[in-house]
Amino acid sequence: MPRKISILGATGSVGQNTIDLIDRDRKSYEIIALTGGANVQLLARDARRLGAQIAVTADQDLLDELRAALSGSGVAAAAGEAALLEAAERPADWTMSAIVGAAGLAPGLAALRHGGTLALANKESLVAAGPLLMAEARRHGATVLPVDSEHSAVFQALVGEDIGALERVIITASGGAFRDWPIAALEHATLAEASCHPNWAMGQRITIDSASMFNKSLELIETKEYFGIKPEQIEVLVHPESLVHALVGFNDGALMAHVGPPDMRHAIGYALHWPLRNPLPVARLDLAQIGSLSFSAPDETRWPALRLAREVMATGGLAGAAFNAAKERALDGFIAGEIGFAAMARVVEAALTELSSDPGLSSAQIDLENVRQMDHLARIRAQEAIRKHS
Ligand code: NAD
Ligand code: MG
Repeated sequence: MPRKISILGATGSVGQNTIDLIDRDRKSYEIIALTGGANVQLLARDARRLGAQIAVTADQDLLDELRAALSGSGVAAAAGEAALLEAAERPADWTMSAIVGAAGLAPGLAALRHGGTLALANKESLVAAGPLLMAEARRHGATVLPVDSEHSAVFQALVGEDIGALERVIITASGGAFRDWPIAALEHATLAEASCHPNWAMGQRITIDSASMFNKSLELIETKEYFGIKPEQIEVLVHPESLVHALVGFNDGALMAHVGPPDMRHAIGYALHWPLRNPLPVARLDLAQIGSLSFSAPDETRWPALRLAREVMATGGLAGAAFNAAKERALDGFIAGEIGFAAMARVVEAALTELSSDPGLSSAQIDLENVRQMDHLARIRAQEAIRKHS
């Protein structure tokens, strides 16, 4: 019986890498839903080629274009948020959650309702609503598997281990595009410069977040939420080669490292075949040729996002939702040219400071409605801060 697969965010970097793996073994899979955003031609091409049941674009205005591109294919076309949720709810054995941003939360929750496995690339849903997501998974008997490379690495290092013997988790960071820049120069880093990652080919938003370390700050929170460990047990290590993805330290002093090429098809493939390992089309490392690996402690003056993540974890509650939303708005501001690169962290910090007087920030219940309200409020506060900083 082919496995039923849905891919949320199929037209993005993670979505396309997922399709690449599925394409190599087409007869093992039946495609239920593919979803995307503006790139409806790519969405329609893949939906047609893979024989999906339904293709959904998040953009209502693009429904006619999607319909036209799918005409005669037998693939249903739909658009908008409700259609996205309906597609995510269609029973599937394995769903890839690869929408970028908080927009991935509700579709991910919808996919958990039919049980099955949610392969989670959308780290923002854990940052904004980790306890909600994990509780929904338990309630419906669904399995959540990490797809972020560091978290997949930790997950793999923990196979067969007692979580009680875990002492610490170390996630690595390449340091992004500006690791060696003078700190003062970060003020004037351009969008083009921030959009080039030294090691990984990824979507533009996560690439810029890698340069600012907001990506790693989201991943700190993601580690806490997914593995249920204390913030002080999680460390960040700068590792420019991006070959060691994470290390897990145990109570006997042993460190288990996960080493591999910077290719998302490894983490995606691991989640696709779990609990088995199947051959994957990733490069095999020649460590003799690589010769040496380097590590250093992250500089929080260069990357204030890391300090902010620690503060957010200490606050708890809806602080993650506020942090993620403020970061998304600040990033929109940088991409639109409203603020400079280094101002993003100042905007996020200002928004969090404004919100810190709201008692609901740390104490409100983490449900979808409250998360949405906090997300909305944080974007407004970030917008106000952008006005002040621009
Ligand atoms: P991307 O920008 O390349 O693709 C995003 C996908 O989401 C596209 O299909 C897009 O159409 C869709 N989308 C965008 N906005 C949407 C909205 N409002 N509603 C519905 N769909 C929307 O992003 P990506 O780099 O593939 O990243 C996807 C997720 O995976 C992110 O959460 C990212 O942090 C995470 N991730 C990515 C990588 C990577 O290698 N790219 C690695 C680790 C984690
Ligand atoms: Mg990562």
